[in-house]
Amino acid sequence: MAITEHVDLSKFMAGLQKRNPGQPEFVQAVQEVAEDIFEFIKDKSVYHEYQILRRLAEPDRVISFRVCWEDDEGNIRVQRGWRVQNNNAIGPYKGGIRFHSAVDESTLKFLAFEQTFKNALTGLPMGGAKGGANFNPRGKSDHEVMRFCQSFMTELYRHVGADVDVPAGDIGVGAREIGYMFGQHKRITNSFTGVLTGKGVEYGGSLIRTEATGYGTGYFLADMLKTRGLQLDGHTVVISGSGNVAIHAAEKITQLGGLVVTLSDSGGFIHDPKGIDAGKLAWVKSQKTRKRGRISDYVREFPEAEFIAGRPPWCVPCDIAVPCATQNELTGDDARVLLGNGCLAVAEGSNMPCTLEAAHLFKAAEILYAPGKAANAGGVAVSGLEISQNVARMSWKQNEVEQLLVGIMSEIHDRCVEYGRRAGTNHIDYVRGANVAGFKKVADAMLAFGVV
Ligand code: GLU
Repeated sequence: MAITEHVDLSKFMAGLQKRNPGQPEFVQAVQEVAEDIFEFIKDKSVYHEYQILRRLAEPDRVISFRVCWEDDEGNIRVQRGWRVQNNNAIGPYKGGIRFHSAVDESTLKFLAFEQTFKNALTGLPMGGAKGGANFNPRGKSDHEVMRFCQSFMTELYRHVGADVDVPAGDIGVGAREIGYMFGQHKRITNSFTGVLTGKGVEYGGSLIRTEATGYGTGYFLADMLKTRGLQLDGHTVVISGSGNVAIHAAEKITQLGGLVVTLSDSGGFIHDPKGIDAGKLAWVKSQKTRKRGRISDYVREFPEAEFIAGRPPWCVPCDIAVPCATQNELTGDDARVLLGNGCLAVAEGSNMPCTLEAAHLFKAAEILYAPGKAANAGGVAVSGLEISQNVARMSWKQNEVEQLLVGIMSEIHDRCVEYGRRAGTNHIDYVRGANVAGFKKVADAMLAFGVV
């Protein structure tokens, strides 16, 4: 008898936990997917026989390496870098690079696993990967960041390539870092290829790539509301974060009629009851990107707002919550507060912002709840479009790319509806829909390849 016939969800998770000690984020990400997939494959023995989920939850490879660099005082500093290549069944590995002091193998394995499903959902041919280093760019000079990026790429270049693995940005990695890494890759390999996305438009980047993750989240939210005959107009929206994703989610949600009243960073949140309109957002953008300032500065510029230190913004009454900061930023207690305040929709701009408890509460309450792998897939989708433009050696106009983004987000929404509609009801379980649709595409490609 095949061994797989005996395996149920709890045994599967016990094995995963045992094989990945000290990696709670990775275990959490797999658990969230496995809950839906075990249900989906219970009458589909071929996925069991070929151990598809077991194989998906074992990265193709985890590369870890030393990154040495010299700070401005002449001290030699040593960081650890990684690239986790999770699965390339449907296309070259693809996923961002994160620079943050808390980056570790567990975080990058969870992100690479999530990315595999997210990329499949976009409908574009991209496998899943993630990389990064425990390097904190905050407070570092431009030249320190440059030396770090060059050293990081001096090792990473062996493992990436336009047809192999195409990294991009993530937390702590934006246009500046991508520029330094691309420059170093070009220099070492003496080739100009589309090895990274999120590039500057001068050297092969796509218009709208910077905005895409946040804009896509806004579009996805509007699509979800439509299923209940609602629109953003007249709804109060609480957003966490104040980086690239948060700013552009706020911009699109405001354009679509929502009233965005909060933004945050690790120091606390600002609450502006009148709304963070386009003018105020432009100010935040320049502060956060060019001056790398803190969100608390907002209240000096706009005194009608208040700054609340040391807390996330979920206590502010709202109709819609859009977490755009980082993983596990919204706990079970936060979810209870949001639900108690009548929150009707949650769209994840960041990856796995809700703890497992918070996610279960949102699911049970049957509110509109979109997981990051669906709601924030716009970023990697436009990365996919950047790859296409690089291969064709052309660049598309801003409105062309944005229209493609709108189309991709609504296709992702359709896929979630197809696999997520709860039998006999009108309720759509977007978590299940995203997990099953992403899984099915990758799994069927893996079946086609046999056991490899
Ligand atoms: N880091 C982004 C994400 O979480 C984008 C990845 C990419 O564009 O490759 O999806």
